[in-house]
Amino acid sequence: MNNPLLEIYNTPHNTAPFSNIKNDHFKPAFIDAIKLAKHEISEISKNTELPTFENTIEALDFSGQTLDRISSIFFNLNSAETNDDIQQIAQEVTPLLTEFSNDIRLNEKLFKRVKLVFDIKDKLNLTPEQDTLLTNKYQNFVRNGANLNESDKLELRKFDTELAKLKLKFGENVLAETNAFKLLLTDKKQLKGLPEGTIEAARMVAKQKNKDGWIFTLDYPSYIPFITYADNRELRKKMAIAFGARAFQNNDNDNQLIVLELVKLRHKRANLLSYKSHSHFVLEDRMAESPENVNDFLEDLLAKAKPIAQKEFETLSEFAKKDGILQLEKWDSAYYSEKLKKKLFDLEDEQLKPYFKLENVIKGVFAVSNKLYDLEFEEIDTIDTYHEDVKTYKVNDTSGNFIAILYADFFPRAGKRNGAWMTSFKGQWKKDGENSRPHISIVCNFTKPTETEPSLLTFNEVTTLFHEFGHALHGMLANTTYSSLSGTNVFWDFVELPSQLLENWCYEKEALSLFAKHYKTNELIPLDFIKKIKDSANFLEGMQTLRQLSFGILDLKWHDKDNSEIKNVKDFESLAFTNTQFFPSVSENCMSTSFSHIFQGGYSSGYYSYKWAEVLDADAFALFLENGIFNKKTSLNFKRNILEKGGTKKPMELYINFRGKKPNNDALLKRAGLIK
Ligand SMILES: [Zn+2]
Repeated sequence: MNNPLLEIYNTPHNTAPFSNIKNDHFKPAFIDAIKLAKHEISEISKNTELPTFENTIEALDFSGQTLDRISSIFFNLNSAETNDDIQQIAQEVTPLLTEFSNDIRLNEKLFKRVKLVFDIKDKLNLTPEQDTLLTNKYQNFVRNGANLNESDKLELRKFDTELAKLKLKFGENVLAETNAFKLLLTDKKQLKGLPEGTIEAARMVAKQKNKDGWIFTLDYPSYIPFITYADNRELRKKMAIAFGARAFQNNDNDNQLIVLELVKLRHKRANLLSYKSHSHFVLEDRMAESPENVNDFLEDLLAKAKPIAQKEFETLSEFAKKDGILQLEKWDSAYYSEKLKKKLFDLEDEQLKPYFKLENVIKGVFAVSNKLYDLEFEEIDTIDTYHEDVKTYKVNDTSGNFIAILYADFFPRAGKRNGAWMTSFKGQWKKDGENSRPHISIVCNFTKPTETEPSLLTFNEVTTLFHEFGHALHGMLANTTYSSLSGTNVFWDFVELPSQLLENWCYEKEALSLFAKHYKTNELIPLDFIKKIKDSANFLEGMQTLRQLSFGILDLKWHDKDNSEIKNVKDFESLAFTNTQFFPSVSENCMSTSFSHIFQGGYSSGYYSYKWAEVLDADAFALFLENGIFNKKTSLNFKRNILEKGGTKKPMELYINFRGKKPNNDALLKRAGLIK
């Protein structure tokens, strides 16, 4: 059978041939491409020549390219334009891909060759990029137990299987507990304060269950508006306590023992691999490098933000007193924050939206990229796409060199998941004297234009577009030899720097004046609006910061030492929260038992990275503010030292090359108005 996925793509710039691809092509293509990749790997591992950097490490990085392309096309479709067939294929091919990557990880012959090269690393005269590639390949094996003896290897697999089970169970329990609670209201008065949309959604839920009235649940789209807007304090309390009690009710869905078991096993696993703790293991592969650094980072922010947070808490308490609230409780926080915000900054989405017509914002982000990085974007219709809404651009630099293909897919539809993201259909690498350029894509869910009204973005959507575009620049400007080190293939706590950095331009008059014009009158966005946007972005920033820090500190305390003697989850947690809580503790509630980020998802010892990324982008943007936000020297410095370099060097080294110093917390605290 002719399979377009397996042939050489006879398309402009070798782009994916979407209109020739049928769903039936995917599975056979995966099977063939895995076979091909396995063959390439076995050629490397059974090579009779002595292992060298080229015949082993480099060969490994260039293996499996067909499989990579098919995977990126397929899984991008599964996110942006999926259907039952595609989901079914995903179910079938995912185990094949897992098996394939396990085969490589556990390939002892291959590891032996990698290790032989690694052991003579210093004699090889490698470039810094090659050095990083070699270290990464070696570490990938070692971190998966390649250096262990046979019985320890078995032990490690046992831990991994057990951990996977516990994480799954943790998630199932949280889900079951979330679904178990329902608040049925039948008296219209109880709905006071709630937005129309929330009430309507609650009515639909009730209708589905054949009930009269309104049903509110612990799912975010129901829970968040409820505790933010419901005037009825007793009901807010009921909802908040139910939310905080999830998987902490001594029933079948309780997660207390699972938390203790997860923490214990993670620590044992780390010890087996010769790391002091789970955090030491995780952070070896992060910009932050060690739990000690993360702890210093969090404690420094805490010391500086706490006095401000304390004052904000007092202000909020004073504000609530007018309603007769003598003690501000957790279930009052979102409610009075929203009320106070409204009082201080009277600025609605609807007032801003006319200044942010989608086409204008796109022009804006292109203009900003042009001023910063000399890029030009030409919309073209010769590139095949997977949906008629997808726009395609040829990206050149101002000297006419081809840089990348950019896909942009802006509007929601059935078959696209929620949110916004950047991805790629093809990576970047250099081989045989050719610089093979990337195909980057941004996917969003903005309101679609109608016959009478264009797509008008909220300010939040504007920053989202800039955010994803920052990731896209990281991908498009990639300029490395090895694809596994290219573009956004960087450490986890470094990947949000380019994206968050670009968001800063949305708050600057000089940038907004390029595009924020009223779609009917062409009038520039009023200065007063810009000031309000900035001020409201910092509203109650001290309390927000403390909340984030409390999660980061709790995460680190669970994972940076041996906690196998701990018996009581709630006591442990309360102690960890000592310095970060203003609200009275609620005895029925526990955070850890539903802290899915760290006990189900991949954030263990990584929760700090939200704040870390903010510190990086604020510190980086401070240099732009010093020199001018469109200062060429500064932007080219960022391009050469960060955007082009991907993961070719340690992120701290790249950052210092750009900034001339390590990042520190002050720029963020200043931007957030927490210090002068
Ligand atoms: Zn991001």
